Amino acid sequence: MGAIQINPSRLMADLQTLRGFGRMGNAVVRQAFTAVDIEARRWLAEKMSEATLRPVWDEVGNVFALPRGDEPTILIGSHSDTQREGGWLDGAYGVICGLEIARAAQEAGRGGVACVAFADEEGAFAPMLGSRYWTGELSLQAVRACSDSQGRQLADVLAGIPEIARADRVPYERFRAFIEPHVEQGPVLDGSGDNVAVVSAIAGVRQLELSFTGEQNHAGATPMEGRRDALHEFLQYASALCKAFTARASEAAVWTFGELGIHPNSPSIIPGRVRAVLQVRDVTTAGLDALMGEALQLAERLRGVRGVDIEARQVLSVAPTKMAPDLSGELAMAAAEHSPRKWRRMPSGALHDAAIISSKLPTAMVFAPSLGGRTHPFDEDTRPEHLVLGCSVVAAAVSRLQS
Ligand SMILES: [Zn+2]
Repeated sequence: MGAIQINPSRLMADLQTLRGFGRMGNAVVRQAFTAVDIEARRWLAEKMSEATLRPVWDEVGNVFALPRGDEPTILIGSHSDTQREGGWLDGAYGVICGLEIARAAQEAGRGGVACVAFADEEGAFAPMLGSRYWTGELSLQAVRACSDSQGRQLADVLAGIPEIARADRVPYERFRAFIEPHVEQGPVLDGSGDNVAVVSAIAGVRQLELSFTGEQNHAGATPMEGRRDALHEFLQYASALCKAFTARASEAAVWTFGELGIHPNSPSIIPGRVRAVLQVRDVTTAGLDALMGEALQLAERLRGVRGVDIEARQVLSVAPTKMAPDLSGELAMAAAEHSPRKWRRMPSGALHDAAIISSKLPTAMVFAPSLGGRTHPFDEDTRPEHLVLGCSVVAAAVSRLQS
């Protein structure tokens, strides 16, 4: 059997064509289950057919390309929907890599490679909806009951898509492994000069909702002595926490107060209430436990000290996931061959479909560098040679896994 030889110009041409579905200047607006998202899926299904693969839509709009035979098959892909204002490579890169490698495997007479475009990774209806349905974490009933920010129910939206009426099941047991190529969406590769990365683990996420309750009063008439300023207390808390985290957190740990509500949020009134959401991410459960423990202890310690009550409760917990060692080892060998000394292993701070699928199949990820570490804004981009390299690394690893 010949090795799988990808065609770089075809890879780039398909990426540009997919970019055209929902293109707005440099950005792409292709949210899940919009007309343009479905059109893009139809185009993908056509490309799959042209490549002698069998396109299959499942009940929630995941689109698979299956080889004809029933040999052990490696699945490669990602998601083809975007954020409200998306970059052109987030998700799309992994889908087109999957298409190119599955197509090249057919041409090499090997088969054994399938591709997937998962639905609604970005969460227009629910985050990672397609992969969570596929692995059984979400039932069809739960999926159909999801609604978007405009109150549309997904069951109604799905009823308008003829391909869904003819949908088929694609059991995950059919596959021996899943590989998700993706753009890094961060500055590590671009900053280090490495051309490709093999992902070691995907960080878990926890969120703590904090309420600070003091006393709302006149900002001029109330003396400083004896004020119970909820925002002042939040600032003390946030500053002490960042100091403690900076001193003790692991190298991969990150944290953000991304959401803040100040009541009543008026220049002449001492804030009586503040609601803040702290999000922490780390690649180990022990690391997450330590960060959450620190945050809860500090809330306990500061509660009532300056007359402000503090309440804290955990509102989200997603476990970290390790990538499969054997599969990642093959990718690492291919990376070392295709980009000697200019590759690295690194954790993913962002969540991906791969995190969901790793509970069912040996799963690995490859990152291509993001220029300037930018993602989601309109100017997300990656050098063409790096897009080709990432795809070649996956193709080489798949060739070896099949031999
Ligand atoms: Zn993505």
